[in-house]
Amino acid sequence: MAEKIGAQLESGERLKALMAMYFLDLKASDEDARGEVAWCSSVGPAELLRSMGFKVFFPENHAALLGASRTAAQTMPKAHALGFSQDICSYLTSDIGAFCSGFTPLTKALGMERVPRPSVLVYNTSQCREVKDWFEWYGRALGVPVLGIHSPVELDTLLPEVVADVAAQFQRVRDGLAPLAPSPFSPGALEEVMALSREASLLWSRCLEVSARKPAPWTFFDHTIHMAPIVVLRGTRQAVDYYAGLLAELETHAAESRAAVPGERFRVYWDGMPIWGQLRALSELFSGYGAALVASTYCNSWILEDQDPEDSWTSMARTYLATFICRSEAYKEAYIVRKAREFGAGGLIFHDSKTCPHNSNSRYGMPQRIKESQGLPVLVMEGDLNDPRCFSFEESRVRLEVFLEQLEEARK
Ligand code: SF4
Repeated sequence: MAEKIGAQLESGERLKALMAMYFLDLKASDEDARGEVAWCSSVGPAELLRSMGFKVFFPENHAALLGASRTAAQTMPKAHALGFSQDICSYLTSDIGAFCSGFTPLTKALGMERVPRPSVLVYNTSQCREVKDWFEWYGRALGVPVLGIHSPVELDTLLPEVVADVAAQFQRVRDGLAPLAPSPFSPGALEEVMALSREASLLWSRCLEVSARKPAPWTFFDHTIHMAPIVVLRGTRQAVDYYAGLLAELETHAAESRAAVPGERFRVYWDGMPIWGQLRALSELFSGYGAALVASTYCNSWILEDQDPEDSWTSMARTYLATFICRSEAYKEAYIVRKAREFGAGGLIFHDSKTCPHNSNSRYGMPQRIKESQGLPVLVMEGDLNDPRCFSFEESRVRLEVFLEQLEEARK
């Protein structure tokens, strides 16, 4: 019988049930047409929307489903035909293309005929300007309002005046949502949702930290699957309960020295987006070489633990501005080095995701600087989050072999 790849976690079944519940709840809200559904960018103000009674749907999560189900290639051309360049975010093009095609992977998975229709769309440009273009296109197509937060990026430090400006923008979004929201705004409800979001974030962070143990009981390929609730259900009790259960299971695996990668030989840090359509193939490839991807910038990005329910607006602004993608090159470099060291990584892989410059940190000399300053082997892997034309498995395999030989030399 073929050996199973990756962490064998019983939480996987709970995850499937939780995600089905999340999507079917959205479906029910779509069908009764009470206007309860809001679409939100992934690092948008989900807590605020939830506190005002919205059910929150995330187009980026839907785009990742298109990538993981390897259906993005069939939907992107529709968006290209609308004038969206083939060089821009393949989340955007695959998602808008899917909408134009009347296609969603949720049909096969859960019998949903379409993604739930929103009564409002809310974005935060802290991650990129693309989310604004993406959501404004939907605003025009669906005839619904679009509200946005325009965050500064490339931040070294979080200056109080910058945080105050973004906090004021969050409050303006609250005012814009007021006539559309299922429930009136209540400070108490926001505090409650933020407390749940923080609790889930802390648990998610602790789950990821278990990969610092040797051998790692789970790896990046598992992280990308189990991160779904912290993206789409943060601010709910279900997310807290899910991660509490997952953490307990991971602690058991760690205590029993159960390795996600049998015979773990190499520990590697991953920077950049997942290559969604290749998760299984890459997981098998890395596992075959005894290489465990123990930590990543991407999965850490949903650790939003600085939320303070007693200082809602300021702490919400500070938390979202503090996310990795918003920070300066110097901050990012120091962060990646620190995390690689904390998790005992002997080398780093930078995924140069061709259609997402914002999540590709290999383009301004960072890999070379880290290699020189830290003496760590570094590999830049060419690919993309969703566009399969940008990735060659065979070329990556060859380059990975060379990289792992360097790691072997460094081990000696
Ligand atoms: S961060 Fe990258 S992948 Fe995400 S929406 Fe922006 S351009 Fe697309």
